[in-house]
Amino acid sequence: MIPFNKPFLTGNETSYIEQAVASGKISGNGQFSQKCQRFFEEKYRFRKTLLTTSCTDALEMSAILLNIQPGDEIIMPSFTFVSTANAFVLRGAKIVFADSKSSNPNIDETKLENLITNKTKAIVVVHYAGVACEMDEIMRIANKYKLFVVEDAAQAIDSYYNNKPLGSFGHLATFSFHETKNIQCGEGGLLVVNDQNLVERAEIIWEKGTNRAAFFRGEVNKYGWVDIGSSFLPSELNAAFLWAQLENMNLIQQKRIFIWEYYYKALTTIAQSNKIQLPIVPSCATNNAHMFYFTCASLKERTALIAHLKKENIHAVFHYLSLHKSPFYDKKHDGRTLSNSDNFTDTLLRLPMFYDLSENALVRIVKVINDFYE
Ligand SMILES: *Cc1c(COP(=O)(O)O)cnc(C)c1O
Repeated sequence: MIPFNKPFLTGNETSYIEQAVASGKISGNGQFSQKCQRFFEEKYRFRKTLLTTSCTDALEMSAILLNIQPGDEIIMPSFTFVSTANAFVLRGAKIVFADSKSSNPNIDETKLENLITNKTKAIVVVHYAGVACEMDEIMRIANKYKLFVVEDAAQAIDSYYNNKPLGSFGHLATFSFHETKNIQCGEGGLLVVNDQNLVERAEIIWEKGTNRAAFFRGEVNKYGWVDIGSSFLPSELNAAFLWAQLENMNLIQQKRIFIWEYYYKALTTIAQSNKIQLPIVPSCATNNAHMFYFTCASLKERTALIAHLKKENIHAVFHYLSLHKSPFYDKKHDGRTLSNSDNFTDTLLRLPMFYDLSENALVRIVKVINDFYE
């Protein structure tokens, strides 16, 4: 069986965990957490970063940090992971779902302005498959209406828009280190705070509503309860594991991009006969090879192809189900049709993509797809 995903280990994970244990400090915000945070702040010039236990937690921190109140409206794509929406629903927000573009699953920036009301507080964008949303236009609209922008960059590590790293555009951005992501520690995430006005409070929310971090830097002489917050910081064991991955990011990225390009090239012939549509990466965006997907002609054809691959011991999967049609939200949705989102729900298929995927396996996967279409 060729699995859909297999988490890659660089080999240093356990020795770094042993180092963390030997240091006698394994709770959060220690040496390895700070090493990881510095990595992002130096490499991508993010203003301030905080490791979290997941991207979901980083999104929940974002909603607290932006002071989201019951009745506030948040605009985001329907074609995304539940956490993008749930984080804001937990604060009582109303989610206004936007459609995807027809060319890729990212939020359609041309339809954003129509969705803005005087209750709108923020736009949350999702860089699907690590491919950038149209950030110039999105930031222009956000500035015009004085809205916050949060980038759900869970899939977008080491990816760029007009040569600027994703995660550096929004007031806030969130990354995921879940084991299905390019760089992983099982469960993990990162909050990026680009807006200087939000930095101090972010650290307080991160540490249970206390000014503990400032205390340990010697900036205040005692620490206490100053705001709402929760326990959003991961243990040093997770950070030590993550550091082993970050150190090898170039190696991991090179291999994933090789696999992505192999698929793209090998499937071009079927795409030219219009049986499938290959992913489109706009010229302003880069591809970080988070996933390799294509779209099929119909739901029926996708179902048949997944079954065909499965019979040949290849695990391919579909992806998100439009959130505006979910059991939790369909009654709350305002009834607008989001046809591109629904189209990706029905037709998008993801192929196995992981570091250890061999060339033999790639050859076999492509052959099975070609056989299906013949
Ligand atoms: C993976 C993912 C998340 C959730 O990340 P966790 O670290 O598992 O909480 C959120 N949004 C998107 C777009 C994702 O791909």
